[in-house]
Amino acid sequence: QSKSVQATETTRTVCTYCGVGCNLEVGTRNGEILSITAPYDAEVNQGHTCLKGRFAFQFYNHPERLDAPMIRRNGTLEKVSWEEVYDYIAEKFTHYRETYGPDSLAGISSSRCTNEENYLMQKFFRAVIQTNNIDGCARVCHSPTALGMQRTFGTGAATNSIDDLKHTDCILVIGANPTDAHPVTGAKLKQFAMKSDKVSIVIDPRRTELARYATHHLALRPGTNVAVLNMMMYYIVTEGLVDDAFIGGRTEGYEAFKAELLAIDLDRLEAVSGVPREEVREAAIAYATAPNAMSFHGLGVTEHSQGTFTVMQIADLAMLTGNIGRKGVGVNPLRGQNNVQGSADMGVQPHQGAGYLDVTRPEVARRYSEFYRAEVPSHIGYKIPEMFQAAMDGKLKALWIIGEDVVQTDPNTQKVIRALEATELVIVQELFMTETAKYADVVLPGASFLEKSGTFTNGERRVQAVRRVVEPIPGTKPDGQIIVDLMNRMGYPQPDYTPEGMLEEISQIVPFFAGIRWERLGKNGLQWPVAPDGTDTKILHRDDFKRGLGYFEFHSWEETAEITEHGERYPYILTTNRELEHYNCGAMTRRTPNGQLLQSDYLMIHPEDARENGISDGDFVCLESPRGKVDVKARVTDEVRQGVLSTTFHFPDIMVNNITSDIHDSEAMCPEYKVVAVRIRKSKGK
Ligand code: SF4
Repeated sequence: QSKSVQATETTRTVCTYCGVGCNLEVGTRNGEILSITAPYDAEVNQGHTCLKGRFAFQFYNHPERLDAPMIRRNGTLEKVSWEEVYDYIAEKFTHYRETYGPDSLAGISSSRCTNEENYLMQKFFRAVIQTNNIDGCARVCHSPTALGMQRTFGTGAATNSIDDLKHTDCILVIGANPTDAHPVTGAKLKQFAMKSDKVSIVIDPRRTELARYATHHLALRPGTNVAVLNMMMYYIVTEGLVDDAFIGGRTEGYEAFKAELLAIDLDRLEAVSGVPREEVREAAIAYATAPNAMSFHGLGVTEHSQGTFTVMQIADLAMLTGNIGRKGVGVNPLRGQNNVQGSADMGVQPHQGAGYLDVTRPEVARRYSEFYRAEVPSHIGYKIPEMFQAAMDGKLKALWIIGEDVVQTDPNTQKVIRALEATELVIVQELFMTETAKYADVVLPGASFLEKSGTFTNGERRVQAVRRVVEPIPGTKPDGQIIVDLMNRMGYPQPDYTPEGMLEEISQIVPFFAGIRWERLGKNGLQWPVAPDGTDTKILHRDDFKRGLGYFEFHSWEETAEITEHGERYPYILTTNRELEHYNCGAMTRRTPNGQLLQSDYLMIHPEDARENGISDGDFVCLESPRGKVDVKARVTDEVRQGVLSTTFHFPDIMVNNITSDIHDSEAMCPEYKVVAVRIRKSKGK
């Protein structure tokens, strides 16, 4: 008899890993989780999960779970009571705010936390501390998506649903490997690509599994997305395939855009991207002539110095061809973390508060101030890289980080460590003693998604109910309750954390949550914007854009400074990727059976590059960049093109981010993880 048969209760909740947002049915008996399956009536995943969602849950009661608050004294973290740690933090926060001003404090919230917890975290900083110094992991993944789509459409979220694959004729997947990073959606895209009457276009330096099935694979050099997309749009215009009616009726800026587009230097763009122009032309014609075409993009678009501009180009492609505002079309970012969409919706960003209202507009600052009954400032706060810089400049005194391992996952690890060491008070709220928690002055033990209730918003704007399956393990608290406790300890009255109460409050300040109530979420949630009567929205921009007319803005390709400054001395380009078995820093998945399936990071290297450097499969390779060096085991494969290497970053013993670059997107400050100039040699390992 299998363990799952023995479960006496089942609870429906939502996966904590990626932005697909699969529904899970968790079987328990006597408070112990025995199994996870997927409900067939789940609109998102219809009975499917991936390796992570179904099997990687045992971290929740792993013996290494943090189980008491800790304060560092004489260099050692000592366990203390919740009362003591709250007093300690409240006293320190008050001291820094009164001595150095509110902007001497900052917070990094977590996309693994619920909407309600993210809302509370940004409210804590805006209303209690009175600073806009609040940011989240979107900074290092999809901040260019939010900014780019807002500039073009007015709204920085997916326009359609994954289910629209049933209604499309063509998919354009750019800078994404959904087979590993968004596996349930990845399987649907693969099934689509295998249909002979459908067209699939993959733009990616790697020959990913999806690329192998695709009709067109444009294997560009990393860092040249803008070049290839400009070539695609050039051919759509010159082949006479634009949708004149859509452009004329729904957009602005087209004539100036077109003039610059027609002046591009095709010879140069073909040379820098390494993609023959005829291949680009064929893909452009395929996309533009499909009755309905959907685009999907991932971090291979955003984690570049021109990430925001690339997102705008993807939106331009949709507008050029009229692929917006109906079923089976649109621009659909594949969001990384389970609730990265929700954390931004809730105001976890320094320039926009809950509901994406611009904090610099006086009427917005007034609205927040009235609603929060506190003086909310109207100047933009620090983004994460600016927080680190402010810490090193002595301006940032206290940093509260929830569920984000910045040491392992942010670029240029040694710089991050210097910033944390320069910060007088680092508070880390976590499940485990992560690489970041090792630098904490205070550690707060939070609760996992299985131990609390609330909502997550998936990559389709779908707000779904997360339901508590088991009680928080002794000594821990739901993250939302910890924030509420600290708000009250600092004299700001905030009712206890309940999803019902929090959603009621959020619905009053976030316009697109107006009709969202806990009891209305049902099994499959609601896609925002939700009207006061509870009607949700499957497709955005049907008749007009949030900004009125869609906005064309041309951007020419520019080589990243990583290559212009370091390319000669470091002639290989390293890019980073993820593996199916693990999630981000691996703090959760490494503590489950998935840790046995993939036990270390590895480096993909082309056979010709391996031969030239005397490297065989399984050898250690020393990767050296201007920031430092790491040793990683080689996997010789033609999945990468010659001159390009790719590695994962799931394991702290390798710490790949020691060598990644903190050059960032020119607009959103998203780091350029995808282009790292390196040189290589065979090594003996560490
Ligand atoms: Fe979880 Fe994403 Fe896997 Fe679904 S596809 S089970 S949401 S990790």
